[in-house]
Amino acid sequence: IIEVEQLQKSFGALEVLKEITFEVNPGEVIAVIGPSGSGKSTMLRSLIHLEEVNGGTIRIHGKPLVEKGGYAEKHQIRELTASMGMVFQHFNLFPHLTVRGNLELAPRTLNRGSDEAIRARSLELLAKVGLADKADSYPSMLSGGQKQRVAIARALMLQPEILLFDEPTSALDPELTGEVLRVIRQLAEENMTMLIVTHEMAFARDVADRIFFMDRGEIAESGTPEEIFGSPQTERTRAFIGQD
Ligand code: ATP
Ligand code: MG
Repeated sequence: IIEVEQLQKSFGALEVLKEITFEVNPGEVIAVIGPSGSGKSTMLRSLIHLEEVNGGTIRIHGKPLVEKGGYAEKHQIRELTASMGMVFQHFNLFPHLTVRGNLELAPRTLNRGSDEAIRARSLELLAKVGLADKADSYPSMLSGGQKQRVAIARALMLQPEILLFDEPTSALDPELTGEVLRVIRQLAEENMTMLIVTHEMAFARDVADRIFFMDRGEIAESGTPEEIFGSPQTERTRAFIGQD
């Protein structure tokens, strides 16, 4: 469902992604782990065109977003990025909109269904993340864990085929991470395709089908949780996992 070939990205003289190649199959859950600055966020952001890469190919459903460094037409970029949802570390909710307003903004703007259908879907998704009673609250009235669950519900509004998470729990107090991880775990059980950057090693081990260990702009190692945690093949992976 996602194919990435030789993806290359530099910020000035700093090469942040060094010809990364991987693919994600439908229904797969991939956890991306690795040290700070290794390029995890840049890789995710590139997939939804929040960063423009300098070279390489990204195909979604076989359709190129960028091919050998050349970007597709605007409408195709819009269509492909709309098939992915992203959840950020710091929630990025709109503070001036209610919870329901946050969920309904994108589908209304993009004219995705009648007002009634959009409203019904937002209430359904809020119920799914356990926040049916917060529809008319403002983000400032919510805990971090609740905000992040709203962000997940919002990302689901456009019925994405792929969800991307960038450290969804690292801004949360430890006692609030569980409620967010539970929602992600439930999505995994429903076979949502997900790419999850996380520092939660136990969660990665438990929920992921495959793990990518990123280091210095490369996927230094990839494999099943058993392979990565049980018998890491590179010294860098061993050192990273060992310190956790
Ligand atoms: P962390 O675990 O701290 O979130 P990361 O693996 O997500 O790290 P990135 O945020 O992708 O790492 O950053 C990779 C490298 O690119 C870092 O050296 C970072 O300083 C640099 N970088 C990221 N964004 C920019 C930017 N907009 N301009 C310049 N350099 C950047
Ligand atoms: Mg990051």
